[in-house]
Amino acid sequence: MSGGWKGSTRRQRLPSNWASEIRPAAHARNPEHICHLCGQPGGDYLDHKNPGDDHSPDNLDWAHDRVPPHCHRFKSSREGLAARPKRNRTPEEHPGLL
Ligand SMILES: [Zn+2]
Repeated sequence: MSGGWKGSTRRQRLPSNWASEIRPAAHARNPEHICHLCGQPGGDYLDHKNPGDDHSPDNLDWAHDRVPPHCHRFKSSREGLAARPKRNRTPEEHPGLL
């Protein structure tokens, strides 16, 4: 099998029914995967709105991670700041980016 995940640390422990039940249920609730951070469809990542082990449907919603505009990456790196992208994209530097 593929072993490309070695060395990556997972911030959250996903329950055993994550892929079989939780993700499909979240998909059924939000079939367009509307991103809870920017409000646009196409989110590829099922995000925990409140970080932790709360896997209840209310705490899970989709976000853009590997696809633009990468809302979840901004949330992760700027948690606590205003993480919501503005309606209009303004070309500005990201001072917190490493
Ligand atoms: Zn988004």
